[in-house]
Amino acid sequence: MPEGVLEVLEPATAAVLEEIPRAGVADVDAAVARAAEAFPAWRALAPSDRAAQLRALGDVVSAHREELAVIEARNAGKPIGDARGEMDMVASVFHYYAGAPERLLGDTIPVTGGQAFTVREPLGVVGLIVPWNFPLTIAAWKLGPALAAGNTVVLKPAELTPLSALRFAELAREAGLPDGVLSAVAGPGATCGARLVEHPAVAKIAFTGSTAVGRSIAAGAAATIKRVTLELGGKSPNLVFADADLAAAAAAAPGAVFGNAGQDCCARSRILVQRSALDAFLAELEPAVTAIRVGDPLAPETQMGPLISADQRARVAAYVDDGAAVAFRGRAPDGPGFWFAPTVLCPVDPADPAAREEIFGPVAVVIPFDDEEEAVRMANDTIYGLSGSIWTGDGGRALRVARALDVGVLSINSNTSVRVATPFGGFKQSGYGRELGPHALDAYTEVKSIFFATGA
Ligand code: NAD
Repeated sequence: MPEGVLEVLEPATAAVLEEIPRAGVADVDAAVARAAEAFPAWRALAPSDRAAQLRALGDVVSAHREELAVIEARNAGKPIGDARGEMDMVASVFHYYAGAPERLLGDTIPVTGGQAFTVREPLGVVGLIVPWNFPLTIAAWKLGPALAAGNTVVLKPAELTPLSALRFAELAREAGLPDGVLSAVAGPGATCGARLVEHPAVAKIAFTGSTAVGRSIAAGAAATIKRVTLELGGKSPNLVFADADLAAAAAAAPGAVFGNAGQDCCARSRILVQRSALDAFLAELEPAVTAIRVGDPLAPETQMGPLISADQRARVAAYVDDGAAVAFRGRAPDGPGFWFAPTVLCPVDPADPAAREEIFGPVAVVIPFDDEEEAVRMANDTIYGLSGSIWTGDGGRALRVARALDVGVLSINSNTSVRVATPFGGFKQSGYGRELGPHALDAYTEVKSIFFATGA
């Protein structure tokens, strides 16, 4: 492959989907310069006009829903039904944050000798670095609040999945977004991503990706005291108490860990089940796992596609070696493509790497616990703290355990964690800062305090 070319694969076939120019440091510098030039006019735009621009971004995504969904399904290997749902969320994110420019409220604060009040100012040029698992969705979570607050942005998609971001940047221009307000730069993390992190004209990095890269970004950003938000990895617990609706918990569990082929930071990949209900739960779980339809992402009946790459498949397979305690597995296609069957491991020692590390593939561990205290201790015994679920028929227990878990996003008798209107983000080494909902705007603005002397 020539130096300046980025070969983009289709994970379901392992064939080349597209060859695109590979961006380098000079492209990042040019995009940052354009964003810096565009910033004064964008921040000065009347709030109602910026709101209209955000609405137009949502509308253009809705108008191109099918085209973008097919790009995402082919490039990221995700089922087309899921990809359509993700494009709907992308549109909703822009429509939601279209309400923000006119609602960036401040405080008035009683002081002596005058009037004190606060306003929220944009940061400037913001670098957005996103992963390959939900390429345009996670980009939108950052683009919406960043642009609404008056920042200009340079978006660096993951090198494995740049196509939806590049197409979206074209559509944004067609929708009337001024030149330089949003640029997408498709190149490697080690060069393009790192350049955004060190660039003195970039005020903030909003990053989603692995905890390992997140650490290096936080360290790199320190040199220029850049603002940073980090949405990192997870090893989320799915706690099933014996008093839960076991059929409902077992029916929902596969979707919560095998959705997106397990390549989901919120994957409930540690299924912790009260010992007295373990056998009954496993009996319900097995048919739900073996029934998962794994196959062509573009086929409407497909529920799970391939993994993103050969490397990712090798990483996942290392957790399911010959000695692994496979309780049961689903099926996956043979032949080309990065396929891996949904797999449940049980029994697994809680100290086993499969029980502690983020696998980021369709592998779940099931581990028994005896009582509520042990359930909370096991759930919290991890460096991560992104999301989790609690299944119980006891309302008091649900709330006690919800308060005791060190995670940012929880669901009770449900496995959903992500909504446009509610904050999303992690505790501990799952990162800091919140995306989505009203809280995301805090991460893209500075609070300015102004005192106006009124005289004696
Ligand atoms: P990754 O950390 O390898 O890459 C993420 C992005 O960072 C890519 O765009 C990559 O090019 C870039 N990058 C890599 N090295 C860099 C560097 N040195 N400097 C700057 N940028 C660099 O992650 P991935 O493999 O693409 O995604 C999987 C990870 O993302 C998993 O750990 C998953 O849990 C996490 N994730 C977290 C969330 C969340 O919201 N918490 C959501 C999705 C994925």
